[in-house]
Amino acid sequence: QKPVPSDIVISRSCVPKPIDCMAREVGLLSDEVELYGKTKAKVQLSIMKRLQGQPDGKYVVVTGITPTPLGEGKSTTTIGLVQALGAHLKLNVFACVRQPSQGPTFGIKGGAAGGGYSQVIPMEEFNLHLTGDIHAITAANNLVAAAIDARIFHENTQTDKALYNRLVPINGGQRQFSPIQINRLKKLGIEKTDPNTLTDEEVTRFARLDMNPEAVTWQRVLDTNDRFLRKITIGQSPTEKGFTREAQFDITVASEIMAVLALTSSLADMRQRLANMVVATSKSGQPITTEDLGVSGALAVLMRDAIKPNLMQTLEGTPVFVHAGPFANIAHGNSSILADKIALKLVGPEGFVVTEAGFGADIGMEKFFNIKCRYSGLRPHVVVLVATVRALKMHGGGPKVTAGMPLPKEYVEENLELLETGCGNMKKQIENARLFGVPVVVAVNAFKTDTQAELELICSVAKAAGAFDAVRCSHWAEGGAGAVALGQAVQRASESPSDFKFLYDVELPIADKIRIIAQKIYGADDIELLPEAQRKVELYTKQGFGNLPICMAKTHLSLSHDADKKGVPTGFVVPVRDIKASVGAGFLFPLVGTMPTIPGLPTRPCFYDIDLDPETEQVNGLF
Ligand code: ADP
Repeated sequence: QKPVPSDIVISRSCVPKPIDCMAREVGLLSDEVELYGKTKAKVQLSIMKRLQGQPDGKYVVVTGITPTPLGEGKSTTTIGLVQALGAHLKLNVFACVRQPSQGPTFGIKGGAAGGGYSQVIPMEEFNLHLTGDIHAITAANNLVAAAIDARIFHENTQTDKALYNRLVPINGGQRQFSPIQINRLKKLGIEKTDPNTLTDEEVTRFARLDMNPEAVTWQRVLDTNDRFLRKITIGQSPTEKGFTREAQFDITVASEIMAVLALTSSLADMRQRLANMVVATSKSGQPITTEDLGVSGALAVLMRDAIKPNLMQTLEGTPVFVHAGPFANIAHGNSSILADKIALKLVGPEGFVVTEAGFGADIGMEKFFNIKCRYSGLRPHVVVLVATVRALKMHGGGPKVTAGMPLPKEYVEENLELLETGCGNMKKQIENARLFGVPVVVAVNAFKTDTQAELELICSVAKAAGAFDAVRCSHWAEGGAGAVALGQAVQRASESPSDFKFLYDVELPIADKIRIIAQKIYGADDIELLPEAQRKVELYTKQGFGNLPICMAKTHLSLSHDADKKGVPTGFVVPVRDIKASVGAGFLFPLVGTMPTIPGLPTRPCFYDIDLDPETEQVNGLF
């Protein structure tokens, strides 16, 4: 077998077709496409109206066994599968994937365009700024943060009347409310449109949000792995008159605005979700939204282009939408509903749309079904569960691996015993997918050191565990040709009956929903709500957010809450430390353990290898 060159070398060796040609090929009209250079384009949402009568294609979600540091290859398999279905089986296809954060690209993980001969190209465009959607989110998010602290400052340094006069200034000789302010008046139950008729009490209620600085839940964001921003003190200049407070930065993809982008279904819906975002609680316990801050319209303006999915292509010239990339732990880790919906129309009833859910099936897939599909109304036809020999061996008790050191022999030599024990994790994840009533095809992503006996063992265990089929594939080394059997299995599975159902009813009490996920998906005995979580259950139920779906923030490295417990842990109780709300995006996220919301840089970050060749203007060193 020929050695496989590095991802960037493969990506660069392929000349992408001009993106306007790709747009025409997939059936887009020229005025529905906005070109961003030669290899990227945005697609206008007007297409949804044009194609509304068109039947949808088949919908496939790629997920995985519980991740290990050895990597499973979900993104690589997503791209390999569409290359097989599109370039080899000649079907209409679309891959819909997340836009990666730049933080990990320069930090520890590298890029996320797939790998080997199954990639989105050009990978440097994909992994870096793309068309600026993440930058737009950073700008929008930080405008909210600035609005919060400025408002606290102004409310505390002015009388009610002075505040009101500035908030509702005289314009053309008259005081006038802006449309956003009229929304706020309605929310307060003040049915008035003439600013001069408010009573003193109404002036105070209107002008003072009275945010409790300790109950501000909105954070600043940056798309860089900067651990020193995890806790900061803001307002230290004398101009802020002592209004200092402890705050933090999150990585941009953890912003609620990213989750809104991923879950929205139209411009009007995005405007509403952005307006519903709760950023703080007032001193009297009321939720304060971006609409209350008057900033919701500006957010929609900043996000106006980001809402349009980005068209790119694979190494084999099949189309890809890259759109939204919410953090997979405190958010739901799935690409956008809009991209999936548009792609399903574009491929037509015989075509396939393949999307990917981050982390393992217990996290990304569970959220894909219970959150994304609930909001989109879309029903998947097939789950593809990616497994690898090496990762299953780790679940079977294989040794830990150390970055920068050679892999222990267990992972590069045949060891059927370790593998068979580890297959328990795959069995549990197959059962998890079956709980939703959708057929599962296991994709065994082969590495060059895997033996025939090992690959066959995984396939037979998977079939015995209820998978529709289990197929070995070699798309990393061979491109789409290496995933043709997987493509055929997915095609057959998509024709088999499926009986989709959600895991829980959103109207159940918050604790019951969490318990159902913990017991049925993680295999826990029970959950334990710690005092802060209990307090939040009461607060959100009182505030009217109790019927939102649940987005668990749990380690992805174990089915349990303990990252060290591999395989299929049993006999554990999941401790829920706290619960937070992304009201605009539309979910509650219980925190199990501590969740870093901005990664740090390792001793030797990926940026050591990244450089620009000034002669050719080529980017070197990305992987
Ligand atoms: P995930 O989406 O599960 O995080 P990726 O698809 O991003 O995983 O793959 C993780 C890394 O493993 C990438 O660098 C990719 O190139 C590499 N990889 C994936 N499959 C294989 C394989 N079969 N052989 C060698 N390397 C692989």
